[in-house]
Amino acid sequence: MVFSEENLGEVVSYDNDEGRFEDERIVMVFCRICGARFIGPIRNAGGFLGAHEMFHQWEFSNMVSEMEA
Ligand SMILES: [Zn+2]
Repeated sequence: MVFSEENLGEVVSYDNDEGRFEDERIVMVFCRICGARFIGPIRNAGGFLGAHEMFHQWEFSNMVSEMEA
């Protein structure tokens, strides 16, 4: 399923490989570090934010270890 800004605020129910999601709200979130945005169900928004946070932390720790080297 692909969502756009037109779907914001809608409440959807859908199935995927993980199970059945009932009454998930479509939201827009953005990454505070790089500004990337995501529109989709809250379940996926959480994954998007978590992935960015993890990536930027990795990026940052790489930068720090390069500076130390
Ligand atoms: Zn980001």
